[in-house]
Amino acid sequence: MAAAQSISRDTQDARNETYQALAQTHGLLPIKVTPFYQKKVDEEVTALGHFGGPLARTVYPSDERLQLRAPGEVADWVDDRSNMIAQAKDIFIQKYENRILFTPTSTCAAHCLYCFRQDVLTEQKAGTQKTLDEQLKVLTAHLKAHAEVTEVILSGGDPLTLSYADLERIFVALAEIKSVSDIRIHTRVPIFAPSALKNDEKLALFAKYNVRMVLHSVHPYEICEDVIALLARMHAHGIRVYNHFPILRHVNDHADVLLELMQKLETHHVRTLSIYVPEPIYYSAAYRISYDRMCRIIDAVNQRAPSWLNSFRFCLDSPHGKVRRENLVMRDNDANILVFMREGQRIVYPDLPEKLDAPGDIKTLLWKTA
Ligand code: SF4
Repeated sequence: MAAAQSISRDTQDARNETYQALAQTHGLLPIKVTPFYQKKVDEEVTALGHFGGPLARTVYPSDERLQLRAPGEVADWVDDRSNMIAQAKDIFIQKYENRILFTPTSTCAAHCLYCFRQDVLTEQKAGTQKTLDEQLKVLTAHLKAHAEVTEVILSGGDPLTLSYADLERIFVALAEIKSVSDIRIHTRVPIFAPSALKNDEKLALFAKYNVRMVLHSVHPYEICEDVIALLARMHAHGIRVYNHFPILRHVNDHADVLLELMQKLETHHVRTLSIYVPEPIYYSAAYRISYDRMCRIIDAVNQRAPSWLNSFRFCLDSPHGKVRRENLVMRDNDANILVFMREGQRIVYPDLPEKLDAPGDIKTLLWKTA
């Protein structure tokens, strides 16, 4: 880590500038950090003396992010566009018969530099988004004609950047569709800006409409006192909160980090649903891990975790849905290709070659405690 320790704020500023230019020309999400999260990054940078810590890497580019490329990277691995019907373009995605991903906003509180939706989000930000009324009209017409859809997941962007009034309009519209029994929100607002939920109005709204909340927390240091206080208030309102997240190189690629994150969340009534394989999208190599190393980390978690933490699934998302280790049917180690099957569909995953992988250092990953 000696080289990383000498990295100054000036060097990081230059790197940020290079990245911002790249973001403009290559459809990447620009750097955007909330003051709340920035404070944590500053504390980390001061403690470590460099920007290679897990929180800094979540929102700021590293040299690897700028330079490392892996074979088989594509713009949009899950191919969201192939799961949008023409009249619902940029409104909702339907990959499974019984649920729909509704994307009412392309705005996020901050930008996660590993974001696997960067391609579609960048395009949506550049275009003209339909008004919420127009989106709801298309969504509800579809839901009325498709009673097999029982769950609507609000994603984005981050739906918790919407106003109370907009969220209420969405919930009211969905409540009128009797076949929709479940509403879920995917968000990082509680992690990036918990003060956005500082009054109880929105929490009461989520409770009223029985909304499940899924955080995307990637590291235990994101779960600070302010976030814990918000989780306690959500719990007091009877809101069910879950977490799912990608395993990311030099952010959380160690069993100790994953266990600390899951344990901390469980203590505060948050159950971990899934740990995801990072998707092979353009400029993602800095965050990716070879499949075998991921499996070893997950095995270590499974061996050490108490049973109440062990119910999460480890999976890879794909244009045809999620696949797990048991769906792996073939591998070609020379070509670094893994083939998974789901419902008759072949998913060819370009693994990260071992030579491009480098495990995170636990003293950096858990710099407060290791
Ligand atoms: S909050 Fe979600 S959608 Fe927004 S940048 Fe982060 S991962 Fe992507």
